[in-house]
Amino acid sequence: MSQPRAEPAPAVVQGFPEPVGDAPGPGLIEGSLDPAAMVIFGASGDLTGRKLVPALYSLFCHGGLPEPFVILGCARSRFSDDAWRQKMRRAVAGHGGLDLTAWDRFAARLFYQPLVYDQPGTYRELRRRLQELEDGHGTGGNRVFNLAIPPGLYSEVVSLVGRAGMSAEGPGGSPWRRLVVEKPFGRDLASARELSKAIAAGFQEHQVFRIDHYLAKETVQNVLILRFANAIFEPIWNRNYIDQVTIIAAESLGVEHRAGYYEQAGVLRDMFQNHMMQLLALAAMEPPPRYGAEPVRDEKTKLFRSLRPYPATNAGDYLVLGQYTAGQVDGRPVAAYRDEPGVDPASLTPTFALLKVMVDNWRWQGVPFFLVSGKRLARKVTRMLIQFKEVPHCFFRQVLGEHITANRLVLGIQPDETTSLTIQTKSPGARLGLRSVKMVFDYNADYRGPLLGAYEKALLNCMQGDQMLFWRQDGLELTWGLLDPVLHACERCQDRDQQLQPYAAGGWGPEAARRLLSLWPEAAK
Ligand code: NDP
Repeated sequence: MSQPRAEPAPAVVQGFPEPVGDAPGPGLIEGSLDPAAMVIFGASGDLTGRKLVPALYSLFCHGGLPEPFVILGCARSRFSDDAWRQKMRRAVAGHGGLDLTAWDRFAARLFYQPLVYDQPGTYRELRRRLQELEDGHGTGGNRVFNLAIPPGLYSEVVSLVGRAGMSAEGPGGSPWRRLVVEKPFGRDLASARELSKAIAAGFQEHQVFRIDHYLAKETVQNVLILRFANAIFEPIWNRNYIDQVTIIAAESLGVEHRAGYYEQAGVLRDMFQNHMMQLLALAAMEPPPRYGAEPVRDEKTKLFRSLRPYPATNAGDYLVLGQYTAGQVDGRPVAAYRDEPGVDPASLTPTFALLKVMVDNWRWQGVPFFLVSGKRLARKVTRMLIQFKEVPHCFFRQVLGEHITANRLVLGIQPDETTSLTIQTKSPGARLGLRSVKMVFDYNADYRGPLLGAYEKALLNCMQGDQMLFWRQDGLELTWGLLDPVLHACERCQDRDQQLQPYAAGGWGPEAARRLLSLWPEAAK
C-alpha cells in the first residue's frame, strides 16, 4: 500500500495563507532584453524627473536595463547633455539613495536634444542625433518613444515622429519601435478616438503602450493570481455568494502642483476612466483561456462591454461628487481646493466621487460595485473589499440572539499590502459566543528578492514588448463610452454647483456618500 506523501512543512506567517518554503521569488527579469534607445519627450518636466528617470536609474542598478541602452531627452528648454545629466542627478538624489559610481555609469547613457514640438525641422535633427547615438552605442535601432508632455501635444508629436520616419519597424518587427503614452488618453470618447487616429498614423496597436501604473503594482497583479490560482475563491466569486464589492482609492494629498491639469480633469477623468476601471476589471472579469496580454485584455474588454450604461437623468442614484474644503490632515491645517494655487476660486471640479456600477452578465447580475476615490481624505488607502452575503440560515441566531456578521475579504493594494478574510469563530470561554476574527496575509512576507516600483515594472515590460499591463484601444473606448453620460451629468447639467457636495479635508468625503454606500466610510478604515 502506498504511503501518503509527506507535505513540506509550511513556513508560518501571521495567519492566512501560509507561504510554503522560502523561495526568494523570481529574479528581476524573465527573458532577455534587446539593446534599445529611449527618447523622452518633455525631458525637462515633472514626470521625467520624478518618475521616469528615477525608475530607469533603479532598473539600471538592478541589472534591469538592456545592454547597450541610451536615453535621449528632448524638450524646448535648452540644455547641454551635461546640464541635463546634472538636473536628472538632482532629481534621482531627491528620490532616494544615489550610488555615485552607479550614477556615473548610468549618466554616461543620458543625452539631450532640444526640440520644438511643432517644428518638423527639429525632428529631422532629432533623427540625425538618434541615429548617431544608435550607431555609436550599437543599440541596433530598437526605440521607445515616451510622451512625457502635456496631452494637448500628443497628436502633433506622434504625427511628426511618424513623418520623420522614426516610428516604422523593420521587416518582421526588427528593429522594433514602441510608443509609451501617459494618461489621460483623451477627455471623453470623441477625443480618445481622435487621439487614437493620430497615434495610428505613426504606430500600430502592437507598438503602443498606454501606461496605467496601477496595473504594474505588485498587489494589483496579485488580484488575478488570488482569484485564479486558488481553487477556493472562484466557485464563490459570483452573485450567489457576494453581496457587493467596493473598490477604494483614497488619497490624503491634495491637488499639489498639478492644479492646471486637475482643474481640467477632475476626479472622474483622473482616476475613474483609468485606474478604477482597471481594478474593476480585475475584480470582475472571467478567467482568460491562457495568460498572455491579448487573452487577458480580451476578457477585460468583455467585462467593459458588460457594464450597464448610465441613464442621462437621476445621476443621484449612482453618483456622489464632492470637493474638499479647508480642514486638517495628519494634524496640520490644509487649504480648501478652491484656495490651492492655480485653482479657480469658483471651481466646480470634483475632487471626490463615488460611482455605483452594475455588471450585466450571469456572474454579477444584481451585485453592485462601488468605486470610490478622492483627494484630501483621512488617509491614503487603496483596496478592494469583497462583502459576502450573510449565511442563509443560522441556528446560532436562535441561541445567541446575535447578528451573524457576513464574511469579508479585503485585498489591500497600497500602502497596506495585506489580504485579510474576516470570519466568525467561537469566542473562547464556557459560554457560547461568536467573535469576528481576521486571517491576515502580508504580501511581502517571506520574500527577499528585489521589488519593482510600478513605473519600473511598466518600463521594463515595455522594453520586453509585453502589453499585458497596458490599455488597449477597445477597452479605452468602452470605458469612455460608459463615463461620457456621467461626465455630461456632472458637467453640463443646470444644477452643477448643487451636485457638488463640500467635504472637510481630512475626513471621508461628503455625507451623501453614506446614503449610496452604507459601508462607507467603514470600508476604508
Ligand atoms: P509638465 O507640465 O511638467 O510638462 C512636461 C514638459 O512639457 C515641460 O517640461 C515643458 O518642457 C513642456 N511643456 C509644458 N507645457 C507646455 C506647453 N503648453 N507647450 C509646449 N510644451 C509644454 O508635465 P508632466 O511631466 O507633469 O506630465 C507629462 C505627461 O504625463 C502629461 O500628459 C501628464 O498628464 C502625464 N502624467 C504625469 C504625471 C506626473 O506625476 N507628473 C502622472 C501621470 C501622468 P519644455 O518647455 O522644456 O518643452
